[in-house]
Amino acid sequence: MRLLLTTSQGIEDLARAEVESLLSKLGVPFRVEEKPLGVEGRVLAEVGEAFYTDEKGRKRELSVATYLNERSRLLHRVIVEMASEGFEGIGEDEPEKALRRIEGFVASLPVERFVKVSESFAVRSFRKGEHKITSVDIAKTVGKVIFERLERFGKPKVNLDHPSVIFRAELIGETFFLGIDTTGDSSLHKRPWRVYDHPAHLKASIANALIELAEPDGGSFIDPFCGSGTIPIELALRGYSGRIICLEKYRKHLLGAEMNALSAGVYDRIEFILGDATKLSEYVDRVDFAVSNLPYGLKIGRKSMIPKLYMDFFGELAKVLEKRGVFITTEKKAIEKAIEENGFEIKHHRLIGHGGLMVHTYVIE
Ligand code: SAM
Repeated sequence: MRLLLTTSQGIEDLARAEVESLLSKLGVPFRVEEKPLGVEGRVLAEVGEAFYTDEKGRKRELSVATYLNERSRLLHRVIVEMASEGFEGIGEDEPEKALRRIEGFVASLPVERFVKVSESFAVRSFRKGEHKITSVDIAKTVGKVIFERLERFGKPKVNLDHPSVIFRAELIGETFFLGIDTTGDSSLHKRPWRVYDHPAHLKASIANALIELAEPDGGSFIDPFCGSGTIPIELALRGYSGRIICLEKYRKHLLGAEMNALSAGVYDRIEFILGDATKLSEYVDRVDFAVSNLPYGLKIGRKSMIPKLYMDFFGELAKVLEKRGVFITTEKKAIEKAIEENGFEIKHHRLIGHGGLMVHTYVIE
């Protein structure tokens, strides 16, 4: 089976490592590739059949897609590949021709093997690159062909709002892909614990990527601009045994973080402090790891305040940080100046896609 896995751009290597670690526990043969055909935000896993023994001692097939949906912290979607095809020159094709090519390809696929005619279905689509067709055109065309194919076996049911089966059709450059989206309409990064919605919250998948980059070893951990608590909560959910601190300047957000932690079942694992990160040393004498999604000034506060805020914060961080810090921001100039002038060294830098932007991520020591 081939699974197309989606995640944020820039963390494919971390998602691949997570998937490899999860699959190795199943004892099945597998091969995982990041950015298949150069497509960012995608990981491809080829996996053999997996089995488990039920309570009556019978050997049962285990759904690897369900296993990944339930356990992954870095993935957004798990899609079972039905077929993929390269359409040379489709970007220059007039709309009718491009859609005819897709139509002809999908019509040849044994769709009935993947969906029962009695189950309602919908097609969700995604398109990236230069084309004369839209993603809506693709969804309509693929939906029509699947409907016509299923009509041979009964009366197909389309339900665009609450389908039982979601087909996912993607055209990325010249590559067309059709699969069954086993995750459903709500991406895995939208965590069920989020009851307080901070206006600038971090995707939980990216929070986990930052935690991976920090490599916390059981030592004390702080998010000094914790907002709704995404990073501390995700760390606590991983079963982290060390001290976890969530510091936030605004009461409303800190209360939101507490509500989220309560809903996640990790309230008792986190220390919540109402305070100013530019006075960090007033709250903690020392801390091993600091990981944060810094204020960018786009959604919160004024942008002109950012350089001073970063300079003051990193000055305080230099007094207390023992091991490693990981920070994500759009403000490259301000953070690099604050990091360097306060005696830290940048050990790693990468860009991560978040909220339609490529955001700078730094590991510092
Ligand atoms: N990662 C968080 C989440 O997922 O909800 C969002 C963090 S948001 C980008 C930055 C947070 O820093 C905001 O909640 C803001 O109120 C807080 N903040 C701004 N200035 C601060 C300061 N001086 N000290 C502590 N927190 C501050």
